[in-house]
Amino acid sequence: YAFDDSKNGKTFAETYVLDKDLGRGAFSVVKVGHHQQKTGESFAIKIITKAEMYDFDKECLKNELAVMKRLPAHDHIVQLYDVFDETDFVHLILEKVDGGELLDRLINKENYTECEARDLCKIVMEAMTHCHKNKVAHRDIKPENILMASETDDSTIKIADFGFAKFCPEDDSLKTQCGSAMHVAPEILTKTPYGTSVDCWALGVVIFTCIGGYPPFYGNNNQETFKKILKGEFEFTEESFGHITQDCQDMITGLLTMDMKDRWSTQQCLDCAWMKDDPKMLKRNS
Ligand code: ADP
Ligand code: MG
Repeated sequence: YAFDDSKNGKTFAETYVLDKDLGRGAFSVVKVGHHQQKTGESFAIKIITKAEMYDFDKECLKNELAVMKRLPAHDHIVQLYDVFDETDFVHLILEKVDGGELLDRLINKENYTECEARDLCKIVMEAMTHCHKNKVAHRDIKPENILMASETDDSTIKIADFGFAKFCPEDDSLKTQCGSAMHVAPEILTKTPYGTSVDCWALGVVIFTCIGGYPPFYGNNNQETFKKILKGEFEFTEESFGHITQDCQDMITGLLTMDMKDRWSTQQCLDCAWMKDDPKMLKRNS
């Protein structure tokens, strides 16, 4: 790791002082932590309670740490600096991101203009291309796990939560059913061996939601949501997408392609027409 406190036998409590909550997931609490020696430096501390972990959670944590350790650093991926594995807790020392979750930004903003969504999308696609080039599938792409760099900038993000991430050498290396209901790819639901393209599907759901202000596949419960995903039917309503360019809709459709072999990769998205469209045109259309 980048820091050697844990390696040098220091305990978490000797090294950090915990401060306010940053967020909460199904498996952890994340708080601000101040390093007692590196004065003024603060971090995000992901606190995992061992007593609450089942075998599957332990396996996931092992993967999370292995992936974060081996994935080369990237400007738009949260970095892991140190890990304290102690009797009752595991503490992950992470780069702190200050703007909150994309989920809350979406709720507060209602929807993104096409131009803002394109800027956001480009950064997300660059970060995910980095993961996929390094044979890492994230497997939990959703607005809760995309963090905003600051309160004022709606486009600069960092990808967080590698809790379901796994090394994925081939397009059919993975079979575990995981992720979140609204973002899960159809091949995961049909128990087909899958690969990194499940993240592309999830990104399609995220971009659709950012622009449209509603999710593409939504049911009153998970079973209904899954039925809609398995049919692959979604609608660009006139009200929400009527003023959005065809290039944008083409990219979303490319990502929300049922057959994972035909689904657009993140690199294809970076190279697509929408990414090259004149920003003035996008602004006028929004
Ligand atoms: P879980 O695996 O339990 O979902 P996450 O890693 O997603 O845990 O963390 C839970 C929440 O904590 C995130 O959704 C986010 O709100 C917040 N969070 C996580 N990592 C950071 C970070 N590096 N900086 C700021 N907030 C974070
Ligand atoms: Mg999470």
